[in-house]
Amino acid sequence: MSDINRRDFMTTVAAGVAAAGSAATGAGAARVDGSGGQTTGPRTPAQTGLVAPAFTPLPLGAIRPSGWLQRQLRLQADGLSGHLDEFWPDVGQSQWFGGKAEGWERAPYWLDGAIPLAWIANDAPLKERITRYVDHIQKSQRADGWYGPYPVDAVAKRYDMWAILLANKVMAQYHEATGDARVLDAIVRSLRAMLQGLDRTPLYAWGRFRWYEGLVPVFYAYERTKEPWLLDLARKLRTQGVDFEALYRTGDLTIPTPRRGLWKWTKHIVNTAMATKASALSWRIDQRPSDRAFATHMIDLLDRHHGQVNGMFAGDECLAGRNPLQGTELCAVVEFMYSLEHLFSVFGDPVFADRLERVAFNALPATLSPDMWSHQYDQQVNQVQCTINPDHQWSTNGPESNLFGLEPNFGCCTSNMHQGWPKFVAHLWMKTPDEGLAAVAYAPCRASFQSRGVPVTVEVTTDYPFREAVTIAVSAERAVKFPLVLRVPAWADGATVRVADGPVHPMKAGSLHRLEREWSGIVRLDVRFPMRAKATTHYNEAVAIERGPLVYSLKIGEAWTQVNADKPHRELPHGDFEVKPTTPWNYGLALDPQRPDADIRFEEQPVGARPFSPDGAGMRAHVKGRRIPRWNLVRGWAGEISPADVAWSDPSVPVSSEPLQDLTLIPYGCTNIRITEFPRVKP
Ligand SMILES: [Zn+2]
Repeated sequence: MSDINRRDFMTTVAAGVAAAGSAATGAGAARVDGSGGQTTGPRTPAQTGLVAPAFTPLPLGAIRPSGWLQRQLRLQADGLSGHLDEFWPDVGQSQWFGGKAEGWERAPYWLDGAIPLAWIANDAPLKERITRYVDHIQKSQRADGWYGPYPVDAVAKRYDMWAILLANKVMAQYHEATGDARVLDAIVRSLRAMLQGLDRTPLYAWGRFRWYEGLVPVFYAYERTKEPWLLDLARKLRTQGVDFEALYRTGDLTIPTPRRGLWKWTKHIVNTAMATKASALSWRIDQRPSDRAFATHMIDLLDRHHGQVNGMFAGDECLAGRNPLQGTELCAVVEFMYSLEHLFSVFGDPVFADRLERVAFNALPATLSPDMWSHQYDQQVNQVQCTINPDHQWSTNGPESNLFGLEPNFGCCTSNMHQGWPKFVAHLWMKTPDEGLAAVAYAPCRASFQSRGVPVTVEVTTDYPFREAVTIAVSAERAVKFPLVLRVPAWADGATVRVADGPVHPMKAGSLHRLEREWSGIVRLDVRFPMRAKATTHYNEAVAIERGPLVYSLKIGEAWTQVNADKPHRELPHGDFEVKPTTPWNYGLALDPQRPDADIRFEEQPVGARPFSPDGAGMRAHVKGRRIPRWNLVRGWAGEISPADVAWSDPSVPVSSEPLQDLTLIPYGCTNIRITEFPRVKP
């Protein structure tokens, strides 16, 4: 996130307002100003006790997926997410649900994704089971407010508050989906117990590093009850939790964890991904200017020292530098997405939504199998095989970390992976403070909301991110005036919008484009985000190919072999698999990074039944390259290769004598094994 982008954004927001005519005035009106989408208007702490976000997420279930996104959610509901509780004891027999297995984070983690999945996909059997589970949590809550799995003498003992923070976040989602008043009551009673419990046993360990997750249910309960003690609890959590701004002043975070290095709380990748939203949540308490600035600073710092082209930062499972071999844990991917959804909501800066798309369309699908029955613990940007590898080079993870399986390395991702897609769907559109609607991210869906009491639906038809065109049909039950805000991605130079049969209007890249008008009947918007090939430079001066929100990787033939069949709960379809290459991968690209469009040809394909699979990829790229014979496996991974190894400017280096070949690249998210950061070879 560069300063240039931020400056562009601010001027564009201001220009967008001017172009759209005068902002709404009168009671309840607010205006988008140049401070990052923040609005002025009736939402100061003095009046509400809590600063309203720049954009408010719609209630769970108000946005339904369609097109490829509906297929993706259906795959998920028919895969591990929709069935984990039926065979995996850590969830199905959880103490949270009255069983004897784990009574800590795993069942709440699963619910955190299964609840939005079930209500968004409208999956009746899953909804029925979840209702039974949540009923049990609510009914087993004790008179003192503590939930069932915690010891009767919990308040007097030292214990980690993390699972309670998580459980209340989950219960808030269930309440939003169902309106079950008993569940809101359970949340409030639990939070009251926490307010007192924290005086005896302050936050430590996971709770101390994840204190801000507790603000999500605290704010949810406060917005519905206006109980002032809830804001005392919010401040207490912040006071007892880690001060990330201070932590990031230390510089330790910039140093990659050495291979076989030490696991550290402060460099833990999941804590880090979660903590990127801490300042946004904190800002809602009292608008500390430092909170607004730190959100951007923290991500900038992570990008500079650990950034990966798939939108993530490396962490396996501690921050690991920019090497494309080092990998990123799946929990961090879904948690970073959730953080970005909060960051955009609170601050209204489109940079956060650009980033959300990059992670959602690249890092998320890449690390899940196309059928969504298996997942990895760590994904690698350059990942040429996924095998059980005791000779691995992970910083702290075990030999199975890049297998596709049920619980490779550790079961946290098995329980936590489910929130990625459903929460992405739930945040595709958000409400503006002046009764309008904002497009946060683009994917086929149908959103319903009310503007000034008038029911409105917005239908998005598109194969974006595989295509440039997005059609939006706005349908109002009767005539109503409200702003429709379109996020224009920072890469989309030349973006345009055409309203009904009107003229084609330009939109500025990296802005929020505001259309203020009276909507009646069905109004069709034709939006176009031109996608141009871009070659970006990464670790060891390797190049990666990007186009729009997608990153492109070498398509490698794959052989999947089942392993660990003797381990518990590995009966198919939820087995463990090694993936090995059946075609060569050691290519360098022959292209001019300054003019990649001249050397790469993109070819549209139908978006498949499994949109994120090698065969279902909705776009292919054709480019020329040469094999690099000296680039081979080292310790089971693609070896590291430096520019000196492919010194094609030096005719004595034999690598350049390999013949030029036609190579096919497909979107990173469609691959299971891949090369993404390529050395360059002689054109
Ligand atoms: Zn995990």
